[in-house]
Amino acid sequence: MPARAELPPVRKVVVVGGGTAGWITAGVLASRFPQRGEDGFAVTLIESRGQPPIGVGEGTWPTIRATLKQIGVTETDFLRECDASFKQGSHFARWVDGSDMDAYYHPFTLPVGYEERNLAPYWLEDPRRQSFAESMCFQSAICGRALAPKQITTPEFTGLANYAYHLDAGKFGPFLQRHCVDKLGVRHMVDEIVRVESKDTGDISHLVTKSGEALAADLFIDCSGFSSLLIGRHFGVPFLSQKDVLFIDKAWAVQIPYPADDTPIASATVATAQSSGWVWDIGLTTRRGVGYVFSSRYMSDEGALEELKNYLGARGDLSQDLSYRKIDINSGYRREFWTRNCVAVGLSAGFLEPLEASAIVMIELSAKSIANLLPGCGGGMRQAARLFNDTFRYRWERIVDFLKLHYVLSRRTDSRFWVDNRARESIPDSLQECLEYWRDHCPWHEDFAHREEVFSAASYQYILYGMGFQTYPAPWLLNDRDRGLAREKMSEAARYAAALTGSLPGNRELLSKVRRYGLQKI
Ligand SMILES: Cc1cc2nc3c(=O)[nH]c(=O)nc-3n(C[C@H](O)[C@H](O)[C@H](O)COP(=O)(O)OP(=O)(O)OC[C@H]3O[C@@H](n4cnc5c(N)ncnc54)[C@H](O)[C@@H]3O)c2cc1C
Repeated sequence: MPARAELPPVRKVVVVGGGTAGWITAGVLASRFPQRGEDGFAVTLIESRGQPPIGVGEGTWPTIRATLKQIGVTETDFLRECDASFKQGSHFARWVDGSDMDAYYHPFTLPVGYEERNLAPYWLEDPRRQSFAESMCFQSAICGRALAPKQITTPEFTGLANYAYHLDAGKFGPFLQRHCVDKLGVRHMVDEIVRVESKDTGDISHLVTKSGEALAADLFIDCSGFSSLLIGRHFGVPFLSQKDVLFIDKAWAVQIPYPADDTPIASATVATAQSSGWVWDIGLTTRRGVGYVFSSRYMSDEGALEELKNYLGARGDLSQDLSYRKIDINSGYRREFWTRNCVAVGLSAGFLEPLEASAIVMIELSAKSIANLLPGCGGGMRQAARLFNDTFRYRWERIVDFLKLHYVLSRRTDSRFWVDNRARESIPDSLQECLEYWRDHCPWHEDFAHREEVFSAASYQYILYGMGFQTYPAPWLLNDRDRGLAREKMSEAARYAAALTGSLPGNRELLSKVRRYGLQKI
């Protein structure tokens, strides 16, 4: 074993890919290790103009605020330059029985009392209860009125309600690129990787570009999208398909102009179930992004396009000028994400489907984790790779369970797509066991192994009880003290909802003010 001083530290990183994954990863690393020059840290990002970024992915998770803050951009610049709006959760329509009345929220703000006690059992036993999200959280009331989560005087990245963003994916990468290159010293190359050269050990030694440049580095980050250039094509790490659990494998996407400059902007992603999948509807400041993700096993491309047009037609959004784009989705993830001196982030690592916007949050978590593990990579990367792979394999498995939950709880019988989604053989054992466990006990922190879960017990409560799942806690588990606390907290949530709905500006109104005046810097 060489002496410590001789061990090569990881100082040179090459990121392959200039989509959302590439720029977030480059930004997080470059901001965490800002020293450049001889003894410093160097990040190079290479992207190919011939293979543009996928250009979809407009819904995020509240973690994005901490990520943008870490990278060092201002919220005002981000909102202005990415046509971004505030997202406060998801609104699910027609998922339970397909009727007109069938709708519920999964808000980002935690249920009342969540930091102290599990109060869900007391909502369940209240015979006069409103929906779970309405009783246990003030945020559905805000979302229902398309209000913002903050005032113009609320400092950047903070809110009166928890929030994330909807953003223009085509503008987000270039926005981060300008900041990463101008402010963080990231070297940006436009060229195409045509060959990967290895050392005797099997590590990558350098990448060869079309223009003949050789790019050497200590660590290579594969953000090359679905082409999965390094982790897939070079290392041949197997892809674990999830298509037998999550049936979505195609999408039609379209951009819808607003009819007027003052059209309200929705505060949540609207996900409306269809016969063979669901339609996403996302409001930005300049347009809406709408798309139908569906399963080709149950629906032809033409049939799906027609269903999407029906959705648009019912809202008065159909016009001759719309241009529809078809996207293939290969649902699954790699068996491992970090192999030798290469780690995959973004679509190259995997993708499931856009339900609950789990892809960008996984990119953020990956970038943060790489930054945390890098200092330990001097003596070799085996331990860092093992830790990363264990954590992210767990995360992908949990996301599969959480997404599948939405389909398993549906009672729709109008198509084979919905019926087959409830077939026992398509449900992972881990999810089935949880569902049995949650018959007697409302989801809680201890039900999950990790401190940083992508979807916490709160998210499970919102989906389970939003979709009408019943838990039957034994009477001896309940007590009058917590019953009183639950009543008090639910009344508090109702009072807070009334106060906020009377005082918060509309999403559109606040975003227009941000354009004019900007938010208060922290
Ligand atoms: C229909 C759909 C809807 C989605 N909605 C959401 C959502 O709401 N929320 C969410 O979180 N996520 C969503 N996603 C996922 C999201 O779009 C991606 O996770 C995100 O855009 C990151 O993509 P990427 O950077 O990994 O890949 P890409 O954007 O595909 O970028 C790949 C990059 O690699 C480069 N590259 C490839 N090959 C080479 C080469 N040989 N040499 C040099 N460069 C190369 C390309 O030039 C490009 O810059 C959605 C995905 C789909 C398909």
